[in-house]
Amino acid sequence: MRIALIAHDKMKPDMIQFATKYRKELSKHELFATGTTGHKIIEATGLNIRCFRSGPLGGDQEIGARIANGEIDLIFFFRDPLTAQPHEPDVSALLRLSDVYHTPLATNPSTAELIVHALSD
Ligand code: PGA
Repeated sequence: MRIALIAHDKMKPDMIQFATKYRKELSKHELFATGTTGHKIIEATGLNIRCFRSGPLGGDQEIGARIANGEIDLIFFFRDPLTAQPHEPDVSALLRLSDVYHTPLATNPSTAELIVHALSD
């Protein structure tokens, strides 16, 4: 599967914890990420990830374009529900495209865990 990994700043520790815990399962897939999230996961896990631009600088839109082109199968997007994001329009656009194209999307670690377990079954 082609999996996109994105985490807002305050959710990056959760994403790193998630990627570390499920490193083995994630390593079986083709991974993509927004810039900062991707580089932090690579640093922590050594996973092979193609990094796009940082989210606020267009990375969410790059991933959105891939969703529209049928090039992403699953999204783990750990959102921070308590902090306003300068690139909220880009975030909304990505979420909208995942609904348009029925691309599975986990917006918090608990849902992501359920999906990873489903993947490994
Ligand atoms: P980042 O982007 O991984 O470059 O921080 C994530 C986001 O906030 O969309």
